[in-house]
Amino acid sequence: MTQFDTVIHSGQIATADQVFAGDIGIKDGRIIAVAEKIAGGERRIDAGGRIVMPGGIEGHAHIAQESSAGVMTADDYLSGSISAAYGGNSSFIPFAAQHRGQSIDHVLETYGARARRSVIDYSWHLIISDPTEAVLQDQLPRAFQQGITSFKVFMTYDLMNLGDGGMLDILTVARAHGAITMVHAENNDMVKWMNRQLAARGLTAPRYHAISRPELAEEEAINRAIQLAKLADAALFIVHVSTAGGAAIVRREKFNGAKLFAETCPQYLALTRDDLDRPGTEGAKFMCSPPLRGRETQDALWHHMAMGTFESVSSDHAPYRADETGKFTAGFDVAYPKIANGMPGIAMRLPWLFSEGVVKGRITLEQFVALSATNAAKTFGCTTKGRIAPGMDADIAIWNPDVTRTVTLADQHDNMDYTPFEGLQITGRPEHVLTRGASVIADGKLVGTEGQGQFFGRAPVDLRARPGVALPEFDPAQNFGTELR
Ligand SMILES: [Zn+2]
Repeated sequence: MTQFDTVIHSGQIATADQVFAGDIGIKDGRIIAVAEKIAGGERRIDAGGRIVMPGGIEGHAHIAQESSAGVMTADDYLSGSISAAYGGNSSFIPFAAQHRGQSIDHVLETYGARARRSVIDYSWHLIISDPTEAVLQDQLPRAFQQGITSFKVFMTYDLMNLGDGGMLDILTVARAHGAITMVHAENNDMVKWMNRQLAARGLTAPRYHAISRPELAEEEAINRAIQLAKLADAALFIVHVSTAGGAAIVRREKFNGAKLFAETCPQYLALTRDDLDRPGTEGAKFMCSPPLRGRETQDALWHHMAMGTFESVSSDHAPYRADETGKFTAGFDVAYPKIANGMPGIAMRLPWLFSEGVVKGRITLEQFVALSATNAAKTFGCTTKGRIAPGMDADIAIWNPDVTRTVTLADQHDNMDYTPFEGLQITGRPEHVLTRGASVIADGKLVGTEGQGQFFGRAPVDLRARPGVALPEFDPAQNFGTELR
């Protein structure tokens, strides 16, 4: 008889397809058996009354990352990964950010050193802000060889945005290697024009941050990004969709066959632009880009989530403390454009989605698994993660679905001085989290150790059922154009 290192027994196993009663046998860090009953095991974890599901894969987090303005996030790979684990994640894919003038090799070396502290497994999406010939021809292919199969670009921020031509160059390189390009889609000139209008009227409070980045600016940029990707026949992932209009464009273009993926984030469903009106410096805590929207947007985004418009719900954890090291590096009494953008939430993504989504009946438990882990594994080529099946890494979260609590800052276990979700009542909590069979969280307490996480390389994006869109200009029968892309 096989001797298992660990057996998780008596739980309800939840996958992206089904929920069933069963046991999981783990050996050497991998799931080797899933069956009705499994005897033995050096360690037996009783999951009676609990849900056993793939550990979350956090696909959008800013950890130990400098902004283009040079502000460092409050969370490094130790605090960030601990917070992620408390939130039911067994792996994450933060960003490794290239700033202008840096080589990709240097960026990956830097983040490699930073990530060694992680308690959960990690990989990176590469942010590209300086697509020189050397980057495009030499450095990105080399990064791809190392299993970095996703690149992120910005359509906004002066120091980050590449312009349409730069995006087409990245998309073309990504396509050649099977990489997916992620995009922050907001129209930079629309935002800058709004900033000038507001500044001229002396409107500088945090609430005007939301006004300065209109829904139209996102919708226009999402549409443009998709058309650029269609021209290059490349896979595209729209990050943090925050508008009903943007989601509708994604849905339409997916239906038309575009090689398209998208996510939204809890903050766009849990909070509104009214939160930026909180007094004093409080409003700044709710500044992120794209900004929080109105109540009716939340209903639309929930509908899109239930209908499958989004592959993932991600946190966009961007931990800038509400002090002079984070939000207020330029001072406390400054206009909104000088306040750092972003909010924390890596420990809240899954508990919030479970409580508001599954417990309240807006999405199924199977959808929850897909949105939290399985789809991210497919999109980002995590071939051994995000699923409960023989041969997969034993990346597993065990949830108590019944426990109710009030969200507090202490609960986040990050290095922040606030949580935007403070005071919310939520139901359901991850009690155990395993990464490759080793416990990181046990009975709701941290047992993982610094450096326990390992880097994982990734495979090309899974483009099955996304044929792409035939363009008449590239029709082979017309005998022109095909060799162009
Ligand atoms: Zn982000």
